[in-house]
Amino acid sequence: MNNKTIRAIKGTQDILPEESIKWQSLEDQIRKITSHYGYHEIRTPAFEKTKLFSRSVGEETDIVSKEMYSWTDQGGEDLTLKPELTASVARAFIQHNLGRINPINKLYYIDALFRRERPQKGRYRQFHQFGVEAFGSEHPEIDAEVIALAISIFKSLGLEGLKLNLNSIGSPECRINYRAALQKFLKPHFSELTETSQKRFNDNPLRILDTKASHEIKILEDAPNISDYLTNEDQTHFNEVIEYLDILEIQYKLMPRLVRGLDYYTRTTFEITSSNLGAQNAICGGGRYDGLTEMLGGKPTPGIGFAAGMERVLLLMKSKQFNKNKVQIYIVSLGEKTRATVIKLAQDLRNQSLNTEFDLLRRSLKAQLKEANKMNVKYAIIIGDKELESNQLEVKDFLTGNQQKVELNKIIEHMNSLSF
Ligand code: ATP
Ligand code: MG
Repeated sequence: MNNKTIRAIKGTQDILPEESIKWQSLEDQIRKITSHYGYHEIRTPAFEKTKLFSRSVGEETDIVSKEMYSWTDQGGEDLTLKPELTASVARAFIQHNLGRINPINKLYYIDALFRRERPQKGRYRQFHQFGVEAFGSEHPEIDAEVIALAISIFKSLGLEGLKLNLNSIGSPECRINYRAALQKFLKPHFSELTETSQKRFNDNPLRILDTKASHEIKILEDAPNISDYLTNEDQTHFNEVIEYLDILEIQYKLMPRLVRGLDYYTRTTFEITSSNLGAQNAICGGGRYDGLTEMLGGKPTPGIGFAAGMERVLLLMKSKQFNKNKVQIYIVSLGEKTRATVIKLAQDLRNQSLNTEFDLLRRSLKAQLKEANKMNVKYAIIIGDKELESNQLEVKDFLTGNQQKVELNKIIEHMNSLSF
């Protein structure tokens, strides 16, 4: 490759045919299972006003503080490539008054996202997520349904070694007390904290619990648990979520450190991790965000959802599940005069939903048969000058080796009657 060759941007990937089969089969499964649960697809634009994310995701998060692809366009508007989906879906929910049309809105998405992170295995700058957002119910049934849906998709993909980590972060009111308790606990350790955590200490101490620094994890071992600060209503809600998960035979691990730093997050939070992924082990994060629509200027509406990283899910999917779209018929042809008949015949067969190929390189008979064999086709139709003159085509069954003459005007009917 010379240095004039243009390459893809660091952290982005081309998904070539061998890989895209896997993507399609993952997407098919997502669409199938979400439809069993009554979810409908929502598609939102690739970019939004920057303030949508700074307001909803939060200024002090990694995403907003350092990962967004943002720019000012020629008209002076501040725009950002979507770094996550919940904000866009909530914006669309408010903008189109979906809550007024239906009391419950169950939406799913499959989309590309952009974050300027350090690229590594399972971490890219353009990546993909599927996820759901369910608006309208504050009751624990929907929390359990959303978790069950995520698990059910992963199970249907044959993923093993998954863990569901679960917590409740209660309501904003109880978090005020927890926040104070956490600050009190951390104060004597302030000088040992990383610079990032020191910054978070005043604005958003809950986010310190997210730390990946091992010495901080150690300090936090004795930190107070949010579960001791839940109100009675929050505790009842969480107990009910847990009861439903037990009824659905979904295993979980209670993780008192699993929190989200922003005020519009409420009650249930969860994540699903895989022990087969190494460092980037989270495949799915989710939770309740009862305060989000109001914060974005809409009517207060409870909501809960999850987002799963598709690249990481694909790393875990075993190859045997992928079915390539196979060529079923190869038309082998010889001679200039046959070309018009061949192109028309291929079109007619394709219109009958039969996957058909013919030679585009004007190769020899032997080379075409070799190609058909390589494609593992079931049948070849052979047309040469002789066949054209007599209107009798040869149909070769690749499995048995049998060859049969079929009249040109009966060929579509004949091919349709065969089993593929
Ligand atoms: P992490 O701690 O791995 O950075 P996160 O908290 O930023 O994850 P979320 O914003 O909750 O992740 O996104 C949900 C899922 O999307 C993650 O669990 C992960 O599977 C996937 N994901 C997040 N960032 C990336 C990325 N840069 N490349 C690939 N997948 C990603
Ligand atoms: Mg991240």
